Amino acid sequence: MTSIIRFQNVTKRFGALTVLDNFNFEVQQGEKVTLIGPSGSGKSTVLRILMTLEPFQEGKLELAGLSYHEPNGRGTFKASEKHLHKIRSNVGMVFQSFNLFPHMTVMRNIVEAPIAVLNMKRDEAETRATELLRMVGLLDKKDHYPSQLSGGQQQRVAIARALAMRPRVLLFDEPTSALDPQLVGEVLGVIRDLAREHDLTMLLVTHEMRFAREVSDRVCFFDKGRIVEQGEPEKFFTNPEQPRTREFLSSIL
Ligand code: ADP
Ligand code: MG
Repeated sequence: MTSIIRFQNVTKRFGALTVLDNFNFEVQQGEKVTLIGPSGSGKSTVLRILMTLEPFQEGKLELAGLSYHEPNGRGTFKASEKHLHKIRSNVGMVFQSFNLFPHMTVMRNIVEAPIAVLNMKRDEAETRATELLRMVGLLDKKDHYPSQLSGGQQQRVAIARALAMRPRVLLFDEPTSALDPQLVGEVLGVIRDLAREHDLTMLLVTHEMRFAREVSDRVCFFDKGRIVEQGEPEKFFTNPEQPRTREFLSSIL
């Protein structure tokens, strides 16, 4: 197996607050990994760093063989915009709050970036978008605006939009946390289908434990910027070793 994500002794601070302290973490190509843990433990920070939305202060990070350092850069995260762009072309992110462009139709939300960033022809982008909308069950909504859709439908569009960029790594940050309970299932269903894609690497922050158990190859429990315990889901959920993990699981299950 080849690792596609590798954090080596990464330290991330916000002012005086150290969120990640010598953080080490590797993900293999095609692996589906869930991150769980209390609020404020650093889960979103890990995803945001991968998405190049946050710099970090120390350590090394690689994604698909690309280093987040500029080859000759001093310090960390001194990569040029061009280099960061190259990293970003490998990774997509789905946020808790959908983040669709409100003034664009569903179709335009999906084709805009492939046309502007990947220089894809409009025809080709629309053909691909049509496939993706069919996959998430929303082809009939292609000419609608986000405000005309339910939260669950918006999130499914957001997933299609991320996939339109053909990322090798897809990050999900609590994709169902902002949804009414009756809409959670349809979004989890789409993610569950995606998890069957052999080559796609997925990193998912979620509080949906049953779902985590179903889709992930590995579950990582985060606490205070560290992975306290990790393992394959069956063992992790039925027989966690660390007292802190047990305490967390009993608090949410
Ligand atoms: P999680 O996603 O596990 O809830 P986060 O990664 O969002 O945790 O946050 C980890 C810690 O970093 C928290 O203490 C949070 O308050 C802090 N933090 C996150 N983003 C910022 C920021 N932009 N500025 C200052 N502190 C932040
Ligand atoms: Mg978070």
